[in-house]
Amino acid sequence: MEQERTEIQDLGEFGLIDYLTRNIEIQNASTVLGVGDDAAVIDHFGKQTVISTDMLVEGIHFDLMYTPLKHLGYKAVVVNLSDIYAMNATPTQITVSIAFSNRFSLEALNEFYEGVYAACEKYGVDLIGGDTSNSQKGFIISVTAIGEVTPDQFVKRSTAEKGDLLCVTGDLGAAYLGLTLLEREKKIYLESPEVKPDLEDQTYIIGRQLKPEARKDIIEFLQQEDIKPTSMMDVSDGLSSEILHIAKQSNLGVVLYEDKIPIAQESKEIAMKFGLDPTACALSGGEDYELLFTMKQADYDKIVLNEQISVIGYMTDITEGAHILTKGGNKYKLVAQGWNAFQQ
Ligand code: ADP
Ligand code: MG
Repeated sequence: MEQERTEIQDLGEFGLIDYLTRNIEIQNASTVLGVGDDAAVIDHFGKQTVISTDMLVEGIHFDLMYTPLKHLGYKAVVVNLSDIYAMNATPTQITVSIAFSNRFSLEALNEFYEGVYAACEKYGVDLIGGDTSNSQKGFIISVTAIGEVTPDQFVKRSTAEKGDLLCVTGDLGAAYLGLTLLEREKKIYLESPEVKPDLEDQTYIIGRQLKPEARKDIIEFLQQEDIKPTSMMDVSDGLSSEILHIAKQSNLGVVLYEDKIPIAQESKEIAMKFGLDPTACALSGGEDYELLFTMKQADYDKIVLNEQISVIGYMTDITEGAHILTKGGNKYKLVAQGWNAFQQ
């Protein structure tokens, strides 16, 4: 089927913004004024405001050869919302700024915004503004997420305490394996375009890479159970580096149990096929967008039945350092590059 192609020049910048924002329906009472003026206005009615921003650059953070634009729009929003949830807050608004070369048609940008709006709808946030520019080359995206939290209920990385349980949600390593697979198939395609990629059985790991979700459900669960984590962050760079952030910023040591790290069966199988250690994928992989948090031991009974939360270790005195206890019974120093963890 011949794809339609409308040049952006035919609309102009204002025509483009009007087109991309034509169907916005405000979902939050806190959005007092959205797109269309010099600035947006938000009133969080006595709550505190939480803000986080991220930039995504084509060729650095994403590859359009295997990333559908709709997925990219969805992911660009979700990874920002994940940061807001990681503060124990609720996202309410986003702004989306884009710069693109003339390689991009109206249809392409429309696809990207379909993903943006799908994420807005799923997570109940309003798109309240942004900026639009040309770039000489490639696609650049900047998303700012804004959220609200009951005064002083936000959760930092630096407030874990000795004896607290270390917990992580969902499972880890799959997004990295999805990326490894997509990169491998891309290489095969570039070398021999006639070979059809075989991605059929790998929908789980590819989905985890291309269409991640933020753990809204976990923040709601913790609130319901009246659990305030003592520290929290999201897992975007790999488990070991995130654990070290919490330990270092809280001035503590930590013990991590290898056999407690949650890894999906699909991930284990594909890791074996690639000759990778599944634990190393979880420790160093990144882009899982799960939540890593610490909590009081007294709260353990409240989470024990939740299959989406795994207790993977506990916080110790700083003098004990940061270690991983392996399945084989060995104790290694935990380092940010998990690959090296087993070589020291
Ligand atoms: P200014 O020149 O004052 O920066 P713009 O023309 O850039 O204003 O933007 C006009 C309105 O459109 C503003 O409300 C702005 O937030 C919004 N806007 C601009 N670009 C985008 C975009 N890519 N997505 C959503 N809203 C946008
Ligand atoms: Mg502007």
